Amino acid sequence: MEKIKMKTPLVEMDGDEMTRILWQMIKDELLLPFIELNTEYYDLGLAHRDETDDQVTIDSANATKKYGVAVKCATITPNYARVKEYNLKKMYKSPNGTIRAMLDGTVFRAPIVVKGIEPCVKNWKKPITLARHAYGDIYKNTEMYIDKPGKVELVYTDENGRESRALIQDMKGSGIVMGMHNMDDSIASFARSCFNYALDTHQDVWFGAKDTISKTYDGRFKKIFEDIFEKEYKEKFEAAGLTYFFSLIDDIVARVMKAEGGFIWACKNYDGDVMSDMVSSAFGSLAMMTSVLVSPQGYYEYEAAHGTVQRHYYKHLKGEETSTNSVATIFAWTGALRKRGELDGNQALSDFADKLEKATVGTIESGKMTKDLALITEIKNPTVLNSRDFILAVRERLEALL
Ligand code: NAP
Ligand code: MG
Repeated sequence: MEKIKMKTPLVEMDGDEMTRILWQMIKDELLLPFIELNTEYYDLGLAHRDETDDQVTIDSANATKKYGVAVKCATITPNYARVKEYNLKKMYKSPNGTIRAMLDGTVFRAPIVVKGIEPCVKNWKKPITLARHAYGDIYKNTEMYIDKPGKVELVYTDENGRESRALIQDMKGSGIVMGMHNMDDSIASFARSCFNYALDTHQDVWFGAKDTISKTYDGRFKKIFEDIFEKEYKEKFEAAGLTYFFSLIDDIVARVMKAEGGFIWACKNYDGDVMSDMVSSAFGSLAMMTSVLVSPQGYYEYEAAHGTVQRHYYKHLKGEETSTNSVATIFAWTGALRKRGELDGNQALSDFADKLEKATVGTIESGKMTKDLALITEIKNPTVLNSRDFILAVRERLEALL
């Protein structure tokens, strides 16, 4: 078979630990034999981030703006232990945080649905994609403990020094207060990212907030979404047969539990934090969650939702066998290759991505899987494979499909 050619490079962001090992295996066994892989390579492994004073992370985000599509391996976010372990010059920020800040995007997470790994919610037939706003609210709050009676107020001082005030509470005893904010621009980017992704993946958008109680704050989210939808997206949605639906968050939660799936659930920052863990564990496993950062300008960065699987890596270093699930990392590659194919009009590349996904799902459905899935599958007597053998089993199926 002739190898598939690529017109525009993909931005490849290599990473750390066990996922770095899987990354190389995926390239060697599942990509390079079939594609003339055209990537611009950035090594975001912690040692190289340290060598470049983290410039490599910034360069990789700029390359994503240039080419439009990136695929990223999981990376270590350094803490004190990592600073010691890698003898780092400093405690660098999370690469994902840096990239997200530069691309100003929204993260969409969706489970990979496989027969035999059934969601706990029995009517969920299709994946639910969770879109979490990643700026502000409680994550950028200011809090105070008040230990005796007194008046608590919100004070806004404009550029000319004029103040406006609102009473929060005339406190008769001790208690707690909190201030938080969000920005119109950030909410608008969030809305556009959700609507673009919906058109892209042909799914409806559901958005819930509590605007009956929080008339100004949550009401602002509702209004910005509505205005942007009416002005910029309504016709495109109608043409595509899609809908945008706003309701109270509690109503949305109730509807989600009764739905079939197959839609995008847009969540404010805190709701997204909580609900994404609920949705992913109800669907089975973190190792089966894909994640894509979509910027309002239409840049895409694909990755797995899990981390570098440190515990498995230490086993690997000791020469012990590992059974680490590579599915979400394979799907990060297929997501990026399919998008690259779409943007370049390269049907062969998009078809390849579809077949690799089919081969991966088919391998699991045939009963061959890694240990994490074997523990939760309803398939009788699954064959537990090690990290490499699972990828080789996928290759065998892929070759049959091509
Ligand atoms: P993790 O890598 O997600 O792994 C936590 C545990 O979940 C593992 O020990 C393993 O459980 C299970 N697991 C996760 N992915 C798996 C897979 N593909 N196959 C099989 N089991 C899997 O989280 P962590 O150990 O807390 O974090 C390790 C490093 O990852 C940290 O340095 C953190 O900064 C980084 N991180 C990066 C990202 C990112 O780049 N997007 C995201 C999160 C964390 P068992 O040990 O029970 O088998
Ligand atoms: Mg959380």
